[in-house]
Amino acid sequence: MFLELLEGKHASAPAGVMQLEVTVETLAGLDDNPGKLSGYGPVAADIARQIVQTHHHSQWQFAVRASDGSLLLQGLTRARPPAQNPADRFANAALTRWIRLRDRTCRAPGCRMPAVRCQIDHTIRHADGGPTRHGNLAALCEYHHHAKDFGGWQLHQNTPGHFTWTSPRGRTYDVAPDPP
Ligand SMILES: [Zn+2]
Repeated sequence: MFLELLEGKHASAPAGVMQLEVTVETLAGLDDNPGKLSGYGPVAADIARQIVQTHHHSQWQFAVRASDGSLLLQGLTRARPPAQNPADRFANAALTRWIRLRDRTCRAPGCRMPAVRCQIDHTIRHADGGPTRHGNLAALCEYHHHAKDFGGWQLHQNTPGHFTWTSPRGRTYDVAPDPP
């Protein structure tokens, strides 16, 4: 299966589009088949991976092809959290999806509840002026959501996706994103 990446903004490409063809297996480091950079030719697997890594903040148009070349899927990657009016009471569907994908599990220390089964919590309550923005939202399971709101635990989101919990006795626990 081929993953074809077409980048919209690349300074060195005259047409402004960089097209990289690479297999998913190569991108994942499972094999070392060369990629293909349009207007340039084959590039070693390492180079293909570097290109993707260097441009991981860019927005990519992607195409997933079957081995016979037919198109299975196409779309656009999202390099930034979806924009939403921070005064809204609830995260919209796109921002909810972003938070669930970012957090992957409940953000309480050691909790493995998948984020798809979690609630989206405002780290600083909406009622206290907390914005509906990715840096103030987190996936919390029902139990830990309740513990935060009523159990005396305090939660601070240091940077988006990085948290410090303070227990009722004042002990702190840092929660960083789960390893890949
Ligand atoms: Zn939890």
